[in-house]
Amino acid sequence: MKPIELPSPNHAARQSAVDLLVLHYTELPLDESLQVLRDDKRSNRVSAHYVLAEDGIAYRLVSEDRVAWHAGRSHWRGRDALNGTSIGIEIVNLHGDRHDYPDAQIAALIALCRDIIDRHPAIVPRNIVGHSDIAPKRKIDPGLRFPWATLAANGVGLWPRPGAKPIEGDMQPALQRFGYPPAVEVTPGDIVASFQRRFRPAKADGEADAETRALLADLLDQVGHEA
Ligand SMILES: [Zn+2]
Repeated sequence: MKPIELPSPNHAARQSAVDLLVLHYTELPLDESLQVLRDDKRSNRVSAHYVLAEDGIAYRLVSEDRVAWHAGRSHWRGRDALNGTSIGIEIVNLHGDRHDYPDAQIAALIALCRDIIDRHPAIVPRNIVGHSDIAPKRKIDPGLRFPWATLAANGVGLWPRPGAKPIEGDMQPALQRFGYPPAVEVTPGDIVASFQRRFRPAKADGEADAETRALLADLLDQVGHEA
């Protein structure tokens, strides 16, 4: 289904090619989300390329060839300020730790992500991330109930396979090899918790137990890095 065009004035010229897809939840109902993301009178103007309603209807606010302002301070795979190289989708959900995402919304999201990936082949699976991956502690969206495994099963992003040999010792270098930021303004546990929110939502407490270490080892294996 084609997105409904609903332009936002909040965008800028792209200086670099797109290679990252960032998923968010809105924290607001649809109407308010569309209003905030199209408001140019706020002190901190924000936007996203797409807003995806609970019924699966997509709205395009910013053209993919322009920069939208959705990521804020962010880091992935050694790079900062990721608005310049990313596409952002705001998924309508008031709190993704508490509210499930409706099936119709997820089906539409998978179709939208696959369209975007087709247009931007540099968005490799490990570059499909949540806001919480690229801004640990500061952001928790799209939340513990976001169905990353379903997305991965449909060709959108990665999901770990069980049974890998756990990483031993300090987990931080391995987390950074996968893409997570270094623990500079946050604690090492904050980075582990960010990883768990994404890949082990049953235990997002920041403690690097054996299962967490095994999941990261498998993901590094999938992307061709030594654990
Ligand atoms: Zn966000």
